[in-house]
Amino acid sequence: MERTLAIIKPDAVSASRTGKIVAHLEAAGLSIRAIRMLRLTETQARAFYAVHAGRPFFASLVRFMTSGAVIPMVLEGAGAVARLRQVIGATDPAEAAEGTIRKLYAESKERNAIHASDSPETAAREVAFFFPTETLVATSD
Ligand code: ATP
Ligand code: MG
Repeated sequence: MERTLAIIKPDAVSASRTGKIVAHLEAAGLSIRAIRMLRLTETQARAFYAVHAGRPFFASLVRFMTSGAVIPMVLEGAGAVARLRQVIGATDPAEAAEGTIRKLYAESKERNAIHASDSPETAAREVAFFFPTETLVATSD
């Protein structure tokens, strides 16, 4: 079983879309192994998206990601990294496939409802960013 990190972003949390998004993820075969809610500090948001530092949208992205509560979660399933990327759809909802989370719930290319790790290596780093090992619950013996 593979693990990946998703974050329900401030636009979706404030619009009360959390329940629908979680239902969508679970229906796609992704099980929640850890979940929390927090408001990112500017330092945390800059560190999390450090790969995009210097891009023209970086300052706006950090403002957006710190504008309200976010809900990071660890998801587990067969091929979880690729499966989650498929289920969320393209970055820009205008380009996202029908039935994907971003097509259904995202407002714009920036305010796009959900984050997903883009590789197993990124997933390991991003899971550790939000969840110390001991917070990952064993769901069966
Ligand atoms: P994420 O990393 O959040 O899962 P992604 O991998 O689909 O999204 P990235 O290219 O990693 O897309 O960009 C990170 C985030 O930065 C996007 O999800 C979006 O919120 C924002 N973003 C990316 N490109 C743009 C852009 N051109 N204009 C505005 N915001 C952007
Ligand atoms: Mg990305």
